[in-house]
Amino acid sequence: MVRMAGVSLKYGDMLALEDATLDIADGEFVAVVGPSGCGKSTLMKLVTGLLPPTGGDIEFDRKRVTGPVRGAGMAFQNATLLPWRTTTDNVMLPLEIVEPYKSQSRSNRKALEDKVQNLLDIVGLGDFGDRLPWQLSGGMQQRANLCRAIIHEPKLLMLDEPFAALDAFTKEDLWQVLQDLWMHQKFTGILVTHDLREAVYLADTVYVMSNRPGRILHRCHIPLDRPRRPETTFDPVYTEIVNDLRAKIAAVRNAK
Ligand code: ADP
Repeated sequence: MVRMAGVSLKYGDMLALEDATLDIADGEFVAVVGPSGCGKSTLMKLVTGLLPPTGGDIEFDRKRVTGPVRGAGMAFQNATLLPWRTTTDNVMLPLEIVEPYKSQSRSNRKALEDKVQNLLDIVGLGDFGDRLPWQLSGGMQQRANLCRAIIHEPKLLMLDEPFAALDAFTKEDLWQVLQDLWMHQKFTGILVTHDLREAVYLADTVYVMSNRPGRILHRCHIPLDRPRRPETTFDPVYTEIVNDLRAKIAAVRNAK
C-alpha cells in the first residue's frame, strides 16, 4: 500500500530524513518510533504527498505520489472536533465532502447516519451522538475523532501521536478502541508515537528511527496474536520486545 525507496528530505540545507526505505502491505498496521525531531512527522507528510521528497520515490496504492493523496484519513493529538456540531454530525463531516458519499448525503442521509451510528457503537459512543464536543471528555472526543478519520473508509489511516494528551488509563482504553476499528475496517495504518508500549501493542511492524537526519534503523515484526487485550501487556513476549526497543532507542539517543 505504501512504498518508500531511498527517500530523503531537506528543509533548506538541513537534511531531515535520509534514505528512508519501507514497504507497508495492504491492511498492515505499522508504528514509527524515534527521538523527537527525527523526522517522524516529515515522513507522514511525505507519504500523504503534502511535501515532495528531495530524493527517492514514494508510492501509495501502487501510484507514484506527486501531490496530496486521496484515500488517506488522519488523526492528530488534538481532537479538533467542530464545537458547534454534535458527535454524529462531526463524524458525518467527511461523508459530506468525499465522494461517493457526498452525492448520497442528501438522498441517502439515513443510510449514512446508520453508518455513523455503527462506528459510534464500536467505540462506545453509541448513546452520545447528539452531544456537543464540550459535553464529552477528552478520551470521548478522541474516540469521535478516530471515527471521523475512518468513516469514509480511507485505505490508509495516518495517526500522529493521537493519544499523547490523554492520561494512562484513557490511553490504554483507546488502544483497544483503535484496534477494534482496525479489525472492523482493516485499513492500512501508520502510527507515529513516542510510546513504545503503545507501538508494540498496536502494530504488526515497528520501525525505529535515528536522530536527525532521520534514518530507519530497525524494523521489528511483532508476533503477538490478535486481538491483543490488556493482559497482553503482561505477556513475556510483549515485555521483551518493549525492552529491546527501549534499549535500541537509548543507544540511538546516546549516539550523539
Ligand atoms: P518529529 O516528528 O520526529 O519530531 P519532524 O519531522 O517534525 O520530527 O522534524 C524533523 C526535523 O526537521 C526537526 O529537526 C525539525 O525541527 C525540522 N523541521 C520540521 N519541519 C520543518 C520546516 N517546515 N522547516 C524547517 N525545518 C523543519
